[in-house]
Amino acid sequence: MSFKKSEKLYKKGLVNLVGAVNSPVRAFSSVGGNPLFIKKAKGTKITDVDGNKYVDLVLSYGPMILGHRHKKVQKGVEKALKSGYSFGASTENEIKLAKIVCDAFPGMDKVRFVNSGTEAVLSGIRLARAFTGKDKIIKFAGCYHGHQDALLVAAGSGLATLSLPGSKGVPEGAVKNTLIAEYNNLESVKKHFEGDDNIAGVIIEPIGGNMGVVIPQNNFLKELKDYLETKGALLIADEVMTGFRSKFGGAQELLGVEADITCLGKVIGGGFPVGAYGAREEIMQEVAPLGGMYQAGTLSGNPIAMAGGIATLTELKKQNPYKKFEEIGGILEVILLETAKKYNIDLVVNRFGSMINPFFTKVNVTNFDEAQTSDTEKFAVFFWEMIKNGVFLPPSQFEAWFLSSALTEKDIQKISKAIDMAMLAVSKM
Ligand code: PMP
Repeated sequence: MSFKKSEKLYKKGLVNLVGAVNSPVRAFSSVGGNPLFIKKAKGTKITDVDGNKYVDLVLSYGPMILGHRHKKVQKGVEKALKSGYSFGASTENEIKLAKIVCDAFPGMDKVRFVNSGTEAVLSGIRLARAFTGKDKIIKFAGCYHGHQDALLVAAGSGLATLSLPGSKGVPEGAVKNTLIAEYNNLESVKKHFEGDDNIAGVIIEPIGGNMGVVIPQNNFLKELKDYLETKGALLIADEVMTGFRSKFGGAQELLGVEADITCLGKVIGGGFPVGAYGAREEIMQEVAPLGGMYQAGTLSGNPIAMAGGIATLTELKKQNPYKKFEEIGGILEVILLETAKKYNIDLVVNRFGSMINPFFTKVNVTNFDEAQTSDTEKFAVFFWEMIKNGVFLPPSQFEAWFLSSALTEKDIQKISKAIDMAMLAVSKM
């Protein structure tokens, strides 16, 4: 397998791009080696510039839930392109996508579209503060909520991968209202409320996906919501990753919890830049032009992105692949565990539907500290062996693998063989 063309582009990219990537999660820093450059993708496969073809378990970090270039999405987008790219004025498709989204989330009467998950969350946080008149926000260590200043502390995703405690350039003042709690630990949330009535709400990834997959234990989310109600604080569900992925109505539908404010991204744009935040009527009344909380966007509700979102969600609803995700995910989980056992490797697998992660550890992973016990050197060896055997994974221990509804039995067989080779390589370390 040759990576010559990728290497060449990488060197070229270094001249005018930072690290030759436009998002640090795409760098291969934690697995060694340089990023692959992608030429194209179709269905479950992604092809790099050297012509190497992989089963894609990155799926653009989640959005490509139907697989790449699904014909309905392609058609919807091509049709939209013929009418113009951006108008700076309202279009009917925004109303259509808003209805699909609001119908899926019972706690959402109104939604505002933005251009990324980061924007969705920073707006959702502003809204929580506007509605409650309070300043502080609690976040959980290891959760990632985009790159807004206030939440770049104890964050997962690229910060976990690069072992960064926070970001340079974030002034102390920007994080002074951010409090950190431990995932799956309600007591750590309660502690912050002791003697403090200035907490607007708690933001959470209802299923952790940015410290690797970490699952809420024993009704954690429901107990958190019940507790927050007693304190007059809001639950802000960051469903950028889990929205329309865990279930059509997100992790909230699955876990039977209704958040006060929901933030979305990834799948709702089907690969185009769309984010959204929404809530019940009384909360959304705060947002301009109805209320005094300002938030705007030149390209928000972009017609091409709306068309991508409508086509993706319509097809997703029709396919209803959540049972299939559970089955395939379950099969992968068993393959990972049994192969690790065969080669005598300590492995813990966390999975929630179509999000899955192996950790090279003995420790049950329920929070960020436990996730960090994983042997990242083993992961790096595993990662490259998977690449060599035709499976594209996120180049980090702390990023979830995603499944698409297009996956076939043949793909699973290929993944299974690759896992065997990769575990064998790890066992030889
Ligand atoms: N929240 C969560 C839970 C995410 O997983 C991400 C991105 N991985 C974001 C927010 C930020 O989204 P974006 O990268 O689109 O800004």
